[in-house]
Amino acid sequence: YASTIEADLVVIGGGPGGYVASIKGAQLGMKTVCIEKGETLGGTCLNVGCIPSKSLLNSSHYYHLAHAGELKKFGILVDNVKLDLERVMEQKRNTVKALTGGIVGLYKKNKVEWVKGHGKITSPNQVNALGPDGSVISTINTKNIIIATGSEVTPFPGLEFDEKQIISSTGCLSLSQVPKKFIVIGAGVIGLELGSVWQRLGAEVTAVEFLPTIGGVGIDGEVSQAIQKMLVKDSWNFKLGTKVTAARKQGNDIIVSVENVKDPSKKEELTCDTLLVCVGRRPYTTNLGLEDLGIERDEKGRIPVNNRFQTVVPSIYAIGDCIHGPMLAHKAEDEGVITVEGIAGGAVHIDYNCVPSVIYLHPEVGWVGKSEEDLKKEGIEYKIGKFPYLANSRAKTNAETEGFIKILADKNTDKILGVHMICSCAGELINEAVLAMEYGASAEDVARTCHAHPTFAEAFKEANLAAYFGKPVNF
Ligand code: FAD
Ligand code: NAD
Repeated sequence: YASTIEADLVVIGGGPGGYVASIKGAQLGMKTVCIEKGETLGGTCLNVGCIPSKSLLNSSHYYHLAHAGELKKFGILVDNVKLDLERVMEQKRNTVKALTGGIVGLYKKNKVEWVKGHGKITSPNQVNALGPDGSVISTINTKNIIIATGSEVTPFPGLEFDEKQIISSTGCLSLSQVPKKFIVIGAGVIGLELGSVWQRLGAEVTAVEFLPTIGGVGIDGEVSQAIQKMLVKDSWNFKLGTKVTAARKQGNDIIVSVENVKDPSKKEELTCDTLLVCVGRRPYTTNLGLEDLGIERDEKGRIPVNNRFQTVVPSIYAIGDCIHGPMLAHKAEDEGVITVEGIAGGAVHIDYNCVPSVIYLHPEVGWVGKSEEDLKKEGIEYKIGKFPYLANSRAKTNAETEGFIKILADKNTDKILGVHMICSCAGELINEAVLAMEYGASAEDVARTCHAHPTFAEAFKEANLAAYFGKPVNF
């Protein structure tokens, strides 16, 4: 028999958007039910996204340091370095298990009810949870509904994933051996991060990218060029301005057909043993019941919402990867919190210009706000403050001197408009820039803020000094 549940809030999807919205809803006193069809909570991010990829990036970085002799300069001699790939994967699985299990604990603590099933909306105030055979497990009557169903891998026309040789990001996180020749289609965030994992573990990597630049949308041109140089030094091959048109299996190999974007008569065939398709992700809204409710999707499959994240049906909201904006976990989480606060009668505000981006290479790449290209396009007058890590004391002690920080500030008001950095801890440091921008800081504000010494963050202070005064002190 199907059970009937009465609720104040039903959240469909238990990824970073949905699980955070569920907990916040319960904390604000709403009886909250989260419907998640997966075996674990945490969505793409915890199960097959942010978390497993960062575990593999960390392990592969350590392996590379030891294997490539990078530790010698610190007086650490390690002989006979070997890779235990199964142990690398075990470490990844343990991390994922601990964190997804942690959400179960948080749900219990906050009294969020998890109904395991596929959520289908049947009316503005009712959701059915369906079992694998499509039968109704539970009917939940509710005041409000939040759709947080996330996204899925965009397939490549004519290519089928076997997840061993022709792989999506999901298969790429669980390979049982290191590829010899690895091709990635798309040098966006996933191509660069997962390409790095296998490159550090011994694969020869070639990235084929349609655009003339790498790093995906929003990256500053100067930063993109600098990381490309860095990766080429690590023996990456790039084929930019080049489009993959098809791929086929031939014996144990995969033959990848590519053509020049500007001159399609320039064609070439590349050979590899493993092919990663990472040409983007698309919203996942399959069998949600949207059509029957009159909720249409835009040309990219996203659910349109207003500035309170309401769809055209006022009791139904949507957040995260299935709506507009960057497909990032922290963006989904923030939308989850403010949507629920809005339902409870509060203000709803997010500044998408202050959502940071990080590419977890080594050194890491981080940015927030406008790139130089954006400012030129918008006709905004700006000044640049730069500081290289070569001149930063902590970077010197750690022998991590690659990279720089670049501040873009308004030429007239000195307000910080964008921050771009390549630094071993850019993923952490970018948050200081976000905080400054959220509070509308000027470059001078940051330059006059005391920073602990010796730290990587001092370069942020110095770059701001360079932006507002024209000269840093230590360079
Ligand atoms: P999701 O995390 O996709 O969660 C949606 C959930 O809804 C899923 O669990 C799904 O099973 C469930 N669901 C869908 N439909 C239904 C239904 N009808 N009924 C019940 N349940 C349903 N972002 C970052 O910010 N930093 C990173 O480092 C990062 N690394 C990434 C690495 C990889 C390899 C990938 C693929 C992505 C990465 N991302 C990263 C992106 C990040 O994972 C997503 O932006 C984030 O997970 C989006 O959260 P969400 O809650 O909107 O959706
Ligand atoms: P992406 O949009 O970053 O990059 C895809 C790239 O593929 C683009 O540069 C595009 O020009 C290229 N491309 C498309 N078709 C092509 C073709 N036929 N031939 C050659 N190149 C082609 O997408 P992604 O790397 O798949 O990542 C998906 C999403 O996951 C992103 O939106 C990202 O925000 C998120 N993600 C974030 C992180 C992070 O925050 N560190 C990490 C991984 C993924």
